[in-house]
Amino acid sequence: NPTTRTDLRLMPLSDYELHKELGRGAFSIVYLVTEKKTKKQWAMKVIDRKSSSKAALQTEIEIMKKIDHPNIVKMYEYFESTDKIYLVVELVTGGPLFDKIMEKKSFTEKEARTIVKQLLESLQYLHSMGIVHRDLKPENLLLKNESDLTIALSDFGLSKILADDVFMKTTCGTPSYVAPEVLNNISNAPTAYSEAVDMWAVGVIAYILLCGFPPFYSDDIRKLFESILNASYDFPDDYWKNISKEAKHFINCFLTVDPSKRYSAKMSLAHPWITQAPQSHPLPH
Ligand code: ADP
Ligand code: MG
Repeated sequence: NPTTRTDLRLMPLSDYELHKELGRGAFSIVYLVTEKKTKKQWAMKVIDRKSSSKAALQTEIEIMKKIDHPNIVKMYEYFESTDKIYLVVELVTGGPLFDKIMEKKSFTEKEARTIVKQLLESLQYLHSMGIVHRDLKPENLLLKNESDLTIALSDFGLSKILADDVFMKTTCGTPSYVAPEVLNNISNAPTAYSEAVDMWAVGVIAYILLCGFPPFYSDDIRKLFESILNASYDFPDDYWKNISKEAKHFINCFLTVDPSKRYSAKMSLAHPWITQAPQSHPLPH
């Protein structure tokens, strides 16, 4: 396991040898790098600073450094220049889960459960620390390696580091994963249920994993917003008839408009679709 360096910010960029670009995200370009001293490989995420205040940035970075969970990309070190932020993080090699979905079309229930369970465990951990990801989507779920379905959550915290308007712009460019209360713009206030926006995204991700397409989709942005705001989606028989009623019930628990009624990470880990425990009471429809 990587350990956090203590000699932060001593000539940091020159400590690394830059290799190829690994990928690009909404906020950054990610490079494969080698730490010269240890010959160890890392991923280096280079972010444009934009207008984020130094204090806000510092607070978030401190939080990110504390995070230690097997399904969350571990941060190693951080430094900055006048116009860029550099994050050196654990290197993962399986690529984005999104690519896997494109490749496979959909996953078996067992595979989907393996992925969703890890996602719930990492969210339970983050939420217990008071951290909300706010930008969960398959592009931000990386696979740790090519051989199994171990996931590594990337990008958490960044939505807060970056100016809110930048975040809203990128999010509203692809609102497929955005919870109704975010579209309604009431979640900016620090409510008791702000972590529920992550749980909405879990529902969307679970849905996509099981059938290969999103629950809310329209070329017309107004229609898309409307279907999200009403949580109007269904399970078309052509794709869903062989999928268990537990799986559908599980998804329903997240795609609930009222954030106070939406399942938390902790509650969802006890759901029969996750535990696969025999049912003494039938699920409601
Ligand atoms: P952004 O915050 O800008 O959205 P992401 O964290 O989503 O950036 O990363 C963008 C892409 O870079 C990912 O889809 C992936 O291909 C690659 N990448 C990001 N983090 C890592 C990592 N730790 N190891 C390997 N590749 C990574
Ligand atoms: Mg991303």
